[in-house]
Amino acid sequence: MEKAARKIAKGDLEVRVQVNSGDEIGSLAHAINDLAVDLQRYRDTRSEFLATISHELRTPMTYLEGYAKVVKEGLYDTVEERNRYLDIIHQETFRLSHLIHDLFELSKMEEGKSGLNLERIDLEEVIENVTLKAELKAREKGLEIKVDLQWGLPMVYADGLRMEQIVLNLVDNAIRYTEKGIITVHIKSANDNKLIIIIEDTGIGIPKHELPNIFERFYRVEKSRSREYGGTGLGLAIVKRLVELQGGTIEVSSEVNRGTRFTMTFPIKAKGVE
Ligand code: ADP
Repeated sequence: MEKAARKIAKGDLEVRVQVNSGDEIGSLAHAINDLAVDLQRYRDTRSEFLATISHELRTPMTYLEGYAKVVKEGLYDTVEERNRYLDIIHQETFRLSHLIHDLFELSKMEEGKSGLNLERIDLEEVIENVTLKAELKAREKGLEIKVDLQWGLPMVYADGLRMEQIVLNLVDNAIRYTEKGIITVHIKSANDNKLIIIIEDTGIGIPKHELPNIFERFYRVEKSRSREYGGTGLGLAIVKRLVELQGGTIEVSSEVNRGTRFTMTFPIKAKGVE
């Protein structure tokens, strides 16, 4: 077992110990095998993740390289054409910095480094901040944001900035994937000391078979959609982790061409949210 443990420490994760007894020694052997399996899984996920990141970074870089070259070599006929290329360069740099920001956020969370700043917060204020930030984008698309807040909502013990980030992310998505109609944010408390936040839109929806995957990192519904709408494919993965970090759950339901609804449930705790 000692030999196996040392091999595992050196990175030889194929090693397994033979389990010959049902006593403490046997259970130690099982534990060593489980450790090897876990480490192997971790290593595979990590290399898959790195491969995806390099792919995600390469795509905008190709655009940047290509269009910068075109502009530099004067391969355009009109000023409008040149400006169009410069616009693409600008959009792609924006997308890149967004991606880097999201990746950083996610890696901080996965390392368990993003501590919560728990305090008593007024959700009405959180929602007000979100609508203030999102309203301009919504108005540009002719969309309305409606807030349906239950009267007399209790103060909750949570991280105000994180809550804002969660709701803003979902409202941003709702705006991005909706062409006409309304985005509604419902907040209410349920009997069993739960707080429920729902973000609903009347947008393009998500096909049923894609729903189970949308919280995965880099998952995008219909790949072709994503370039048209921008986005990093990390938004919902971050939202889910932030919700869970505060003891909550998030669920999604959707109907294509009808709209999408995200429902979050948080415990209302007197002293803290685990
Ligand atoms: P992205 O940055 O690409 O929007 P997200 O993680 O936020 O990534 O979302 C994952 C995918 O889920 C998106 O590519 C999009 O197709 C789909 N999606 C998210 N929110 C909505 C919504 N409100 N309506 C329709 N599709 C959505």
